Amino acid sequence: TPSEFIEEDGIVHLFGIDITPIKTANFELLKYKNIIESSRDGVGLVSVENNEVFLNNSLKEALGFSESDLNGLVSIKELYADQKKAELIFNELLEGKYWNGDIQLVSKKGEYLDFLLSAGPILNESGEIIALFGLHTDIRERKSHEKSLQKYSNRISNILESITDGFFSVTKDWKVTYWNKEAENLTKISREKVIHKQLWSFFPKTKKSDFYNNIKNILEQGEKISFEEYFEPLEKWLEVNAYPGKEGFSVYFKDITEKKKGNEQIRAAKERYELISKAILEAVYEWDIQNNVLEWSDVYYQIFGFTKKSVDETFLDWEKNLHPDDRETVIKNLNEVLEDPVKSNWDFEYRLIIADQKVAFIVEKAFIIRNENGQAVKMIGSLQDITELKRNERSLEDLNFKLKNRAKELSASNLELEQFAYIASHDLQEPLRMVTSFLTQLQKKYDKQLDEKAQQYIYFAMDGAIRMRQIILDLLEYSRVGRMDYKIEKVNFNDLIKGVISLNSTSIKESGAKINFKNLPVTDAAKIPLQRLFSNLIGNSLKYRKEGEKPVIDISAKELESYWKFQVRDNGIGIDKDFREKIFVIFQRLHSKDEYSGTGIGLAICKKITESHGGKIWVESKPGKGSTFHFTIKKQF
Ligand code: ADP
Repeated sequence: TPSEFIEEDGIVHLFGIDITPIKTANFELLKYKNIIESSRDGVGLVSVENNEVFLNNSLKEALGFSESDLNGLVSIKELYADQKKAELIFNELLEGKYWNGDIQLVSKKGEYLDFLLSAGPILNESGEIIALFGLHTDIRERKSHEKSLQKYSNRISNILESITDGFFSVTKDWKVTYWNKEAENLTKISREKVIHKQLWSFFPKTKKSDFYNNIKNILEQGEKISFEEYFEPLEKWLEVNAYPGKEGFSVYFKDITEKKKGNEQIRAAKERYELISKAILEAVYEWDIQNNVLEWSDVYYQIFGFTKKSVDETFLDWEKNLHPDDRETVIKNLNEVLEDPVKSNWDFEYRLIIADQKVAFIVEKAFIIRNENGQAVKMIGSLQDITELKRNERSLEDLNFKLKNRAKELSASNLELEQFAYIASHDLQEPLRMVTSFLTQLQKKYDKQLDEKAQQYIYFAMDGAIRMRQIILDLLEYSRVGRMDYKIEKVNFNDLIKGVISLNSTSIKESGAKINFKNLPVTDAAKIPLQRLFSNLIGNSLKYRKEGEKPVIDISAKELESYWKFQVRDNGIGIDKDFREKIFVIFQRLHSKDEYSGTGIGLAICKKITESHGGKIWVESKPGKGSTFHFTIKKQF
């Protein structure tokens, strides 16, 4: 039958055609029908003359055809899934060419089956094509491998395209085999341009660098490499991770310029705050609340004598140093502030137990940084050691307390003294009057009986009584000066002095004194006491004049910021340096009553008057050359 190989005397007949001379490898196979039939690859033959088709068992089975199914088949072309491709292949074959490639055939059930087709023409002796043969290798498995491989590589490239790092792969000679989108972004070199090219041809300067040669060496030894580098050609800081592979290297890189800049700024800021902390000698800290890292400036360790831990310090490290008596309130207060989303500051005073178990008083001031939910994420603050201040404050308080007490005691005893003086002088007058009146009676009634001696004794007794009366009156006045509330009024001091002069006109005339004054102020004062003051000073200048010299008294005033300063200058006997303060004390006199009359109370009264005007009194003098009394009164009191 034509559909059989017939071998006769070395001549092979196929479908009745002599195909002996064909020298193809496949044809060689045809010689062995059994082999063809039993071949696992599908063999198909088609005669050109009548399109007769032969399929071996393997191909028939693969397509699900029986012998009878093939009877109606005119051409094997009809089995192709892609008719156009079939046309193309067959035309090529009919032109005498060979064909090698993947095709798809349709099975009886309508499935598409993948084959690798190796096909060629079969020629007769005169070179005419008499048949076509095709060897169909089942490539279903290979195809499905290819598909999953395709999927896999799609997935890889999806990943490589979507990662935020730049990525490229290169051969060991730096020839680029992959270049992702981010690599394009970072380098501004497109994939089309760079692929299959030498990487360094795009960065000619870097090519020479030892650095990259070293990297290559390391990678070639199979080690991965990570580094950060300023990459000059891109003017960027890059973080690079390179991995060695069989064919070459895979490199991930990322732009860290901003981060680097940020780091530099942080470093500079840190340095700045360390310096500030040093300058103000306050411990400064930054507490990262979320990660609980508490970072202190060096001053913290210096001034409190703590030792810095080698690991990150936390909130607890500070808390454990709190004074046990303060701990609860400090923590409670801090937590309240931290949990209140509107608070941004925390100020607190507490005690710390520092080195050597000493206690330090601290004022802490802090600023709280919150996230958009109002949650405290950071706290920045400073600790000021106020131990010394506290100590001073306390001793100052002590001192103040003592002073106040002393002042109280003093004013109490002053008051008592004044009261005593008042009562004493008041009550003494009555018995004194008795003494003088009986002495007078004695003198009157027994005038004739008393001898001269007795008369003289009575005179001395009278004289003592008179002086005693004067002392009592002075004392009474002195005690009154501080006690009576005088009216404060506008006082014209020119008029006031005129008044004093007219009151003392007799002694002025007697002594031939000259009193000069002009442009004295008009100011608020208690008139009566000030009149008394000037009267005392002028009176003294007249009294303590130099013998044989007419007294000259100059009165002037000077305006100071909040005082009026007056001065009364004379050309009298002057006052020895040692007594310039003593004379203002009550009953202090420098002379005997026989030299100069007086009780020694006048200047004490002057002192009291100036003091009740918020002022002071003092004297400048040169013995034998006169004295100048100065006193001040406040403009407003
Ligand atoms: P008295 O004049 O009654 O003694 P004072 O208190 O007025 O008391 O004066 C005290 C002392 O100061 C006087 O005893 C006198 O020695 C001295 N003294 C006061 N004023 C003058 C003056 N203008 N020149 C010299 N000495 C004076």
